[in-house]
Formats: sequence, structure tokens, C-alpha cells
Amino acid sequence: MIKEIQVKSVLNKHKKRDDWFLENYTLNPYSGCSFNCIYCYIQGSKYGGDHSNNLSIKVNAPEILIKQLKNRAFKREYGIIVVGSSTDPYLPIEENLGLTRELLQIIYRFKFPVHIITKSNLILKDLDILRKINASANLPSDLKTKLNHNVIVSFSFSTIDNKLAGIFEPGAPSPRERLQTMQKLKEEGFLVGANLMPVLPFLSDTEVNLDKMIKEMKYHDADFVLVGGLTLFGDKSTDCKVRYFEILDKYFPEISDKTRKLFRNSFYPPKNYQQVLSERSEKICRKYGIKNNII
Ligand code: SF4
Repeated sequence: MIKEIQVKSVLNKHKKRDDWFLENYTLNPYSGCSFNCIYCYIQGSKYGGDHSNNLSIKVNAPEILIKQLKNRAFKREYGIIVVGSSTDPYLPIEENLGLTRELLQIIYRFKFPVHIITKSNLILKDLDILRKINASANLPSDLKTKLNHNVIVSFSFSTIDNKLAGIFEPGAPSPRERLQTMQKLKEEGFLVGANLMPVLPFLSDTEVNLDKMIKEMKYHDADFVLVGGLTLFGDKSTDCKVRYFEILDKYFPEISDKTRKLFRNSFYPPKNYQQVLSERSEKICRKYGIKNNII
């Protein structure tokens, strides 16, 4: 079911810039997400809700964004706007609705830089506006010497195996399509990268799998790769933790128990898992000469 909702604010200012995604602001044209990824942290986390059944369109987002950006631009509080921090901005509904497109036009008008996070090739329909933003936005002063681009686009992957992606990301475009779209955007002159988030324990987080994924990102011209582990929340039937283990029991029973052990005490695996993942990713990024951060 798709709802239309009115919002009071659409642009959220962050106190401190995020080191990974460089966000000063976040903006989500939609609430909820029809890509329906099994591991989606929004389902069951503090962000709450059953994403797939509650896709909402923020119908007054354009008028609110004009007010908010006018105010920020007047104070010269330029900063990177991350579009798609909690839901994909290029869901199938965007093709006809064009809400993300309309918001990007406003962002262009007020000269803010963007970092778009998506799994979708629909972003290609907005190349014209993205080119204009890339050519004219104002980066925050401390980033001017570090970033040569005003448009960053990153694509999210939990795997590059199309079959595995079909199980864990049933509504999203295939990894192959994402890779091709990333390459196309690089050819267009944007800064592009891959968010390998979350890599799936025992399925896509192994040294061999990570190596394959990062090699493929390099081959498709990614400027950077960010790697992050899985988090699992909630105990309701629609929550990601419950859904994730249902899928493991059904398709991968051989790793069910050891995955459950990883999440025995928390939403995320123990520190040593994170440490190994981080060292492994750094080593492979070095091997392929690809950055493991944006700047
Ligand atoms: S694309 Fe992102 S927001 Fe949408 S369901 Fe998947 S993980 Fe959640």
C-alpha cells in the first residue's frame, strides 16, 4: 500500500559530518522501501516499521525543502546532502512520480553538493541535473581541497552473486545492473563507489568473496569501496533479525547455527569479527589499489 504523507521537515542537519558518507544533511524523499531487502536494518531497529508495506510519498517535500535550503544557503551553511540514507531514492515508483528528481532540481537551485546512495539504475534518468549540480555546487570550505566533485554516487551491495541477491534483496535491481550503472556514472565524471554493506556472514564476507567483490568494483571503475558488517534487529515476524534467520534456515541451514552464535549477544557480531572484516577489507583494497574511504 502506498500512502501520501505531509512532513514538517525533509532535510535533517547532522551535528557532525559522518566520516564514512560525508553527510552534513540527510534527505529521504520516501519513507519505507519496496526493495524489501531481508537484512534491511530499518525493519526492527529504532527507525522502526514494516518498510515494504508502508511505502509513503512525502508529497510536500519540495515546498519544505525550498524553505529549508533557502535558510541554509542564506547562512552559507553548505554541506553534503546524503540522499537515500534510510530508503532508496530510486524506487520503481520514482520513474513516473519524479519526486527525487524534483528535489534534486531544488538542490541544484540552491547549489548544495550531494551524495546519492542507491541500488537502482533509475538514477540514470537524472543525469542532466546531476551534471549541473556537479558543475556548480558549493562544497563546505574544508572539503574544497579534498574533493574534486560535487556529486558522489554510491551503490550498495551485499553480494555480487545475482542468485544470492535474488534471495536477500528480492525487489532490488541485480548487482550486475548496479555495476554497469556505476561504471556509466564514472564515465559521466562523477565520484562513484560501492558500499559493501552489509556483507553477509559466511556468504559474502569471506576473504575469497570479498576479494571477488572488490576486484569487480575496481573493474567497474569504483573510486572507493566501503565495507560494513550485518546488523540484525527485532523479534517480530517483520523484523530483519527474524526474517534473516528464516531465510538462512530455508536456503542455508548449514550456516544458521554459526550465524546465530555471532548475533547471540547483540545486534551486531562481536568486536573481533568487525576487526577481522576491517583488516581483510583494507588488505584487499590495497591489493587492488582502491580507496576504502571517500576522501
Ligand atoms: S534498499 Fe536499503 S532501505 Fe531499501 S529495503 Fe534494501 S536495505 Fe532497506
